Amino acid sequence: MAFIDAHTHTFLRGPEDLAAMARAGVESAVVCAFLPVPASGACSLIDLFFWLDDVERKRLVQAGIRPIIAIGVHPRALPPETELDRVLAEMNSLVTSGRASAIGEIGLETGSEAEKSLLLRQLRLARDLHATAIVHTPRADKRERLRETLRLVDEAGIAPGRVILDHLTPDLVAELDARSRHFWMGLTVQPGKTTPEQLADLVMARGTRRLIVNSDLSHMPSWPDALAMTAQRPGELGLKPEDIERLTRSNAEEAFELPDARPVTAKHTSSVT
Ligand SMILES: [Zn+2]
Repeated sequence: MAFIDAHTHTFLRGPEDLAAMARAGVESAVVCAFLPVPASGACSLIDLFFWLDDVERKRLVQAGIRPIIAIGVHPRALPPETELDRVLAEMNSLVTSGRASAIGEIGLETGSEAEKSLLLRQLRLARDLHATAIVHTPRADKRERLRETLRLVDEAGIAPGRVILDHLTPDLVAELDARSRHFWMGLTVQPGKTTPEQLADLVMARGTRRLIVNSDLSHMPSWPDALAMTAQRPGELGLKPEDIERLTRSNAEEAFELPDARPVTAKHTSSVT
């Protein structure tokens, strides 16, 4: 089975992990911008965006994985407020020119006013660019941060079908289902987050509608083969092959508008270091 991993930070892993992803069936990966420290200025973030578009794009292609580059300011990487205009202008330019194709990873961590203001601006940018926004929810106070995020999504006027609310828990999926809004809902299969067993229970209860599984592969504990784990033993977990296909591929294809997603050809000649 060929997977689309809809949320990764592969640039924080070595080539052996990219090879492991490809071996585990990942055909395309969304690479989301993220710095684990506050950015001291716009340059830190802009250089990160260039890194993803240049070196990381090439590394994924070499590994045989189609790259989908997402750029954005994660709430843990907030730069000084005076630097934001420059960062947002660069994001606009990179998406408009096709060097990046989605906005992420954005969201709220502590729910500070600075985070909310920036999330609103980034959601409006995604709306104006007709780009999909990948929106983080934190481990702490997840429910409250999600509710604040939903208010900002409404204020920004971005279509729910352009928003992936990520790192959700099964109970928050139920809460979103009750709102009858058609957001995409991301579930991260990672140590301490969603397990394949929880995922199977959730799908048995409400189907695969709008659900997207991802690894959130980063410098933190995470699995290059998270999607393959999700697809493993589907009979034992009670999921049908078509359920697995929706969770690990076709819902992401729809969310990112990738109707012509096809495997890339691995190249082994370049010498990216
Ligand atoms: Zn992430």
